Amino acid sequence: MSSEVASGKQWERCLEVIKCNVKDHEFQTWFNPIEFISFERDKKELLLGVQSNYFFEMLDGPYKQLIYNVVWRIFGQDARIVYRIQTDSTNNIAIQVEGESAAVKKQRLSKDNTFKNLNQKTTDEELDSQLNKDYRFDNFIEGESNKLPRSIGQSIAENPTQGTFNPLFIYGSSGVGKTHLVNAIGLRIKELHPSLRVLYVGAHQFEVQFTDSRRNNNFNDFIHFYQTIDVLIIDDIQELALKEGTQLAFFHIFNHLKMNGKQIILTSDRHPASMKGMEERLLTRFKWGLTTELEKPNHDLCKKILLSKIRRDGLTISEDVVDYVAENANESVRDLEGIVNSLMAYSVVYNRDIDIEMAEQVVRRTLKYQVRNVTLEAIIEAVCTMWNVTQEDIFSKSRKAHIVQARQTAMCLAQKHTKLTVSKIGLHIGGRNHATVLHAIKQVKDRMAIDKNFAQQVSEIESQLKA
Ligand code: ADP
Ligand code: MG
Repeated sequence: MSSEVASGKQWERCLEVIKCNVKDHEFQTWFNPIEFISFERDKKELLLGVQSNYFFEMLDGPYKQLIYNVVWRIFGQDARIVYRIQTDSTNNIAIQVEGESAAVKKQRLSKDNTFKNLNQKTTDEELDSQLNKDYRFDNFIEGESNKLPRSIGQSIAENPTQGTFNPLFIYGSSGVGKTHLVNAIGLRIKELHPSLRVLYVGAHQFEVQFTDSRRNNNFNDFIHFYQTIDVLIIDDIQELALKEGTQLAFFHIFNHLKMNGKQIILTSDRHPASMKGMEERLLTRFKWGLTTELEKPNHDLCKKILLSKIRRDGLTISEDVVDYVAENANESVRDLEGIVNSLMAYSVVYNRDIDIEMAEQVVRRTLKYQVRNVTLEAIIEAVCTMWNVTQEDIFSKSRKAHIVQARQTAMCLAQKHTKLTVSKIGLHIGGRNHATVLHAIKQVKDRMAIDKNFAQQVSEIESQLKA
């Protein structure tokens, strides 16, 4: 590999680590557009291209510490960053700037430990739990769909060393409140048991730390650090699928913590039974404690959440609008929040009261955005992958159970996510009539109601379609 390619890869690693330390939209706005130009090994100079002076000021201002911390870890302690500002990209005119002298900067930054990583001290120093302080129990509204996980979470928070539910495995589709709930548990534990070492980490971040530690030859420190934790919370554990090395490391950490009576809390977008690419012995361990589902919010909970967000934002929204939104956007709490924000923005921009007409517009737009790209082809492809059947099978007349299941699911999802009529769906899927399609839809819905595993597989397909 040429050294330029290798440096480019190093810069990509930097981006990966940065991504774990900033919000998604910040990453997209400020970091994604950065162009890696070169890294001069003898001068240890990293040259990065940015679109304007404004970008330079942001990167060399609020984000300076983060960037330097990451670059130093990956390119070496005394690397310097020089920005090339494309002042006129059409004529390729650029100026090069560097912030204040890197040496001065380094001195100042080294006192700072904003870089949240396993740089953390192993025992005596206080650990930064990396918990989100906005995700508390008092603002995690209770409803039928989250009652059980919520109360189990509370009981673990009160007695984190009892080990009755260890690990606690919380699963549920995107936006139903998993991240919120596990942070609330962590915060409550810190409040009631300040001496416990609580750590929240996203599975992706865990993976990045693991690969870094392998590369920097401090794998033992990595394992040791995690073994000192009293309450380990790993969010979105499904992201470790197919990451065999990371799974192995996690396996060791898990065993050590469990054996020593330390609490482990995991979240996932699916039930362990439908997790692919995860080692069997890990899946078995996930089920040792308690597995509980955070279900999609029901109408009542949607209403309660909406009302609380509305109150928080000081908005006035009539009962029928609240009902309308709760009725139509009940897939995820995240959607509800987005809708409340859009309603507020609309009412401010247009200086209008929030009425049902505005709500309809906003809801339609939010939901349309989600299903914008779903095509029949994509549905068929996703269904085939899930149950390992071919497209010919779907279009064939085969009555084999797994093929029928895949075919019927494709029909059901096509009706839900595309604008095709049932007759058209039948026509496209092997020339069936509309009655067959209606029958298929009913079969799928009935089965989803009684077969959790199947329901989970269908929702997995749906989340892939929306991704
Ligand atoms: P997930 O991790 O399951 O994808 P999050 O925990 O990120 O979902 O939740 C999405 C958003 O919805 C967050 O802003 C969270 O605060 C909010 N939320 C979820 N459930 C509730 C609830 N029961 N009460 C209040 N807010 C909630
Ligand atoms: Mg989450």
